[in-house]
Amino acid sequence: MNDRERMLRELDLHPLWVLRDGQAMPLAPEVPAAVPAPAAMVRAAVLDEGVPPAGADGAHSGEQRAQAIGAMDWPALRDAVRQCSACALHAQRKQAVFGVGDESADWLFVGEGPGAEEDARGEPFVGQAGRLLDNMLTAIGLARGQDVYIANVVKCRPPANRVPEPLEVRCCEPFLERQIALIQPRLIVALGKTAAERLLRREVTLASVRGKVHDCNGIGMIVTYHPAYLLRNPVDKAKAWEDLCFARDTVSRLKSGQVASI
Ligand code: URA
Repeated sequence: MNDRERMLRELDLHPLWVLRDGQAMPLAPEVPAAVPAPAAMVRAAVLDEGVPPAGADGAHSGEQRAQAIGAMDWPALRDAVRQCSACALHAQRKQAVFGVGDESADWLFVGEGPGAEEDARGEPFVGQAGRLLDNMLTAIGLARGQDVYIANVVKCRPPANRVPEPLEVRCCEPFLERQIALIQPRLIVALGKTAAERLLRREVTLASVRGKVHDCNGIGMIVTYHPAYLLRNPVDKAKAWEDLCFARDTVSRLKSGQVASI
């Protein structure tokens, strides 16, 4: 048994599944880089105004905030996330969890939100679910930080690891948008329902969105199970393995130019 087989067995992912045939997809258009805004202006727009609750001028301020965030470079964005107090989640966090990895990665994995260990350490997916995610990455020849970026829909831990509320997701939306625009990944892998719904901007069942390449503003996106779900439902690891093979195949075809666009 070789190393890969041993590792797949450890994940309950043996025997191997056969890769499905992919469909032709168009190539992601280039997203123009926004001009970085001066730090002072950005700070004023993001931190001073925050995101007011729904109200007469709420939409307007939220739009200004999103525009300011959409113009940030990495340091300004990091700073804005670190200091964000736009929703109630900031009050109980130890720290915001920005994201980690290669800032020009082909692969972007998006989870739901930090748990207790992530909140304590300031890095996404470092708990039990994170160990499984690392094993899933290894299974398709990837490693955290090497051509891989990992981020979450919300950057602050929801209390008791509950699903983030719609307002919390909305407040964090411009941060994830900007991360995607700066990274320009070839493929986004949505881990679980919260990430899938946020990226597709609609309610979904996981079963209905797996096994397809979705168009996420010109970037390909596939959906698989959240590692925490897989820890509770190991029987679905086989389906997750199918999804990962599909993702790996999709990235290979995009890289080799076999497909023109998403
Ligand atoms: N679950 C997530 O969705 N994200 C993390 O960072 C950790 C656990």
